[in-house]
Amino acid sequence: MIPISDPKSQFETIIDSIVTNLKDVILSGKYILGPNVKKLEEKIADRLGVTDAVAVANGTDALILTLAAFGIKEGDEVITTPFSFFATAEAITRVGATPVFADVNEETFNIEPTEIEKKISRRTTAIIPVHLFGQPAMMDEINAIAKKYDLYVIEDACQAFGATYKSQPVGSLGDAACFSFFPTKNFSTMGDGGIVTTSNQKLAEKIRKLRVHGSQTKYHHDEIGYNSRLDEIHAAILLTSLPYLDEWNRSRITLANRYKNKLNHLDFIKLPSMHNDGSHVFHLFSLATDYRTEIIKHLQAEGIQTGVYYPRCIHLQNAYRNLDYKEGDFPIAEALSKKLFSIPLYPGLTIQDQDKVITALKHFKVNNND
Ligand SMILES: *Cc1c(COP(=O)(O)O)cnc(C)c1O
Repeated sequence: MIPISDPKSQFETIIDSIVTNLKDVILSGKYILGPNVKKLEEKIADRLGVTDAVAVANGTDALILTLAAFGIKEGDEVITTPFSFFATAEAITRVGATPVFADVNEETFNIEPTEIEKKISRRTTAIIPVHLFGQPAMMDEINAIAKKYDLYVIEDACQAFGATYKSQPVGSLGDAACFSFFPTKNFSTMGDGGIVTTSNQKLAEKIRKLRVHGSQTKYHHDEIGYNSRLDEIHAAILLTSLPYLDEWNRSRITLANRYKNKLNHLDFIKLPSMHNDGSHVFHLFSLATDYRTEIIKHLQAEGIQTGVYYPRCIHLQNAYRNLDYKEGDFPIAEALSKKLFSIPLYPGLTIQDQDKVITALKHFKVNNND
């Protein structure tokens, strides 16, 4: 089976350095908020050109702690996309605020700035654009709207570590940004992890406090916080991977371009488009088709794994029944949830395996009798 992604193939190439660095962590006796976390935070802040990076337990917590640190709470509304992983909206609800959705762009799958502006109310406090599948959202337009209405912009950059927008790194484009180090993400560890990046030093300080039970000095608690930290072992793995990240992202882009060149004549699929303002780091290679079920079955029979991101929009999830959204509220996002599917793409994907995927897709026959 050719998997849709394969984190192991990434780690395998640097396994000896990882083992050495993990040994050092084990023998150091420091497992929580030690030197590796500090170094990782400094390296990431440097790389993105922001003043601060604060490592937390996962990408969802990165969003929750950022929202909480901005003081976003019950009665507030936060505008985001209905076409993302559930956690984007879940974090908003978790701090007591209400997610308000705005439809996406059909080509980039990212939130549509003109739709955001239609959803602004007196209660709106922030916008969370998602750089979906590794492609940056339209940040200039979004930041302009935020400025006009005095809103915070929190990038959900969980799928886009290493991407740039008009030559600026994702994670440095709003008031704060959130990343996930979940194993399948472009920059990842062997478990859960996340980080918030920002040039708002007050915000960073607040998040540092929130992640350790609202405390700055041990056993003195200024507020009710969380327990949300990145472990030293994960920081060590991430530090070992960081020098290879750009190379891994370049492999993803090369493979994506190869798919685009070899598949562009197939009329039953629509290839992902790239926006001129940003670099797409292809967390996922997602195509649109009217024959999703049949293609997935066909590829499965050929030993090729596919994925559907995402089969159900967030506004139509059972968990959000109370918000009273209905089918038809976000027609573009809903259409994408019925048409998109992803094919294998990861740094260790061999040309031979990629060719198998390409050949299998070329052999797919649209059955017009159904
Ligand atoms: C993965 C992901 C998250 C959540 O990250 P976790 O580390 O799994 O908590 C949030 N938003 C998006 C867009 C993601 O892809």
